Amino acid sequence: TSDKIKRSFVIIGLGTFGGTIATELARFGNRVLGIDINEKNVSDLANTIAEAVIADGRDDEALKQAGANHYDVAVVAIGEDLEANILCTMNVKLLGIKTVWVKALSKTHHRILSKMGADRVILPEQEMGQHIAQMLHNPVVRDYLSLGNNFHVININIPEELEGKTLGDLHLGEKYNTRCLGVMRGSDYLGCEDDVALKKDDKMMVLGRRSELRLFGDTL
Ligand code: ADP
Repeated sequence: TSDKIKRSFVIIGLGTFGGTIATELARFGNRVLGIDINEKNVSDLANTIAEAVIADGRDDEALKQAGANHYDVAVVAIGEDLEANILCTMNVKLLGIKTVWVKALSKTHHRILSKMGADRVILPEQEMGQHIAQMLHNPVVRDYLSLGNNFHVININIPEELEGKTLGDLHLGEKYNTRCLGVMRGSDYLGCEDDVALKKDDKMMVLGRRSELRLFGDTL
């Protein structure tokens, strides 16, 4: 199976956040090394990921002994202990790991980690909060993806009121300057031609700027 391995990841800190990342990455077929100072958190994941090791992220020698330097990507998911989080970030950078993502505990911490050269700093609660607010704001929006520069893709659950209308009837382009990327009915892809007739509970993906997507969403 080794030729199927896409990338290799070392996750340091196997709490809820790091443990979930490690489990999912392994499920996607990646090689994952998990490291935690806490024996129970390590043994909980031992059967799920390729390797799970008890070590202290503050200790660069211990990380090296665990083989962390051989991985493409490091995720520092140590929470609470700010000093350990920062030292561990420094250690994985010094070990030469090319891509480093770190969970931050606060905005100030976020700034420190960015200055240290972390490739991506994550504030999980803020990011999740924003995501949830977007979906609550418009309940037909099941999920969305931010593409940067104000562009988003939203995934809409077609409501009953649109049943029988065709994609052409919605005038997504002319009215809202948005574009349909496709309609799914169950696991069938119906495409995005003007004559596709919508049914309740179809899923429709629409690309556009946030404000224009909102205008369209408010008509649903
Ligand atoms: P979460 O919200 O993700 O559960 P926690 O702060 O509870 O966050 O979990 C962070 C994990 O990091 C814990 O499993 C903890 O044992 C681990 N951890 C804390 N300090 C270190 C360290 N110095 N080295 C490695 N892992 C650590």
